[in-house]
Amino acid sequence: MLVVGGGPGGMEAARIAALKGHKVTLCEASAELGGMLNVARRAPHSAGFGDIAIWLEAEIYRLGVDVRLNTYVEPEDIMAEAADHVIVATGSLPRMDARQHSFPSHAVPGTDQAHVVSAIDVLRQPRDWGQTAVVLDTVGDYEGLAAVEALLAKGMAVRLVTPSAAIGDKNERTWPAYERFIQMGGFEEVTRHHLVEIQKGDVLVRPHLGAPQLTRVIPADVVVLVTPNQPLRALFEALAGTQKNLTLIGDARQPRDMLHAIWEGHAAARGIG
Ligand SMILES: Cc1cc2nc3c(=O)[nH]c(=O)nc-3n(C[C@H](O)[C@H](O)[C@H](O)COP(=O)(O)OP(=O)(O)OC[C@H]3O[C@@H](n4cnc5c(N)ncnc54)[C@H](O)[C@@H]3O)c2cc1C
Repeated sequence: MLVVGGGPGGMEAARIAALKGHKVTLCEASAELGGMLNVARRAPHSAGFGDIAIWLEAEIYRLGVDVRLNTYVEPEDIMAEAADHVIVATGSLPRMDARQHSFPSHAVPGTDQAHVVSAIDVLRQPRDWGQTAVVLDTVGDYEGLAAVEALLAKGMAVRLVTPSAAIGDKNERTWPAYERFIQMGGFEEVTRHHLVEIQKGDVLVRPHLGAPQLTRVIPADVVVLVTPNQPLRALFEALAGTQKNLTLIGDARQPRDMLHAIWEGHAAARGIG
């Protein structure tokens, strides 16, 4: 059996298949296992995600999975491998076009500038992002909160812009996080607003159904875009129809969270005869 992608979904699939006695190969494009957990663990108060990755990694080595790091898998590699089952767990990446579901036809000008980054960039790069930040969060979950807190911890003034009536409305850890934001100082929530334009040094935002004269200018040395991720499905789509036992799991199937990725990896491996 071949698993492509060494994030939590792929590692769990490999673990369960190995426990069932299959000969398992796991290919991971980067130099380390863990996938997005290697980013999530850098978020404030989230070191536990690293523990989950460490445990899964230890288990798959213990169970004798053939782990191939620095191995980016192309469709031809899968044909050459001739595995009886292939599980694709290639994850997802941020979209960086600031598409907002309330205004799907509005292409926000300015997204191609160097100071427009993702939450992953903020957590991965321990650098000076300036004095002011705007986080556009149309998701309302862990990434927006993580980016805000990481930037506040640097002493920056941070505005979270969201179309929702409340920040982080899909995350159960929002209220403790909100209290920390207030204590840290420099935080402002800009709810029921959308992003109109990104300029060098500031952004234009507007109330949801607001007229242009209600447009507000907010200073932003850095703009962080947190919108629904783009699933990485190119490999799966190239293989569909050519491979009999092919399963797509985790964020590659639909970007969500670690629990779904692990559960789908578990279920996919259990389903193999
Ligand atoms: C900042 C942040 C905070 C988060 N916080 C939480 C949280 O609080 N709770 C929660 O449940 N989830 C959280 N998540 C989300 C969680 O990390 C992801 O949902 C989860 O990692 C998805 O697992 P996955 O295995 O599907 O994909 P990923 O973890 O994305 O792993 C995919 C792997 O596939 C590899 N790959 C891609 N293409 C190829 C290829 N062609 N060949 C070989 N390898 C390939 C990639 O290098 C990557 O390692 C957070 C994510 C981020 C970024």
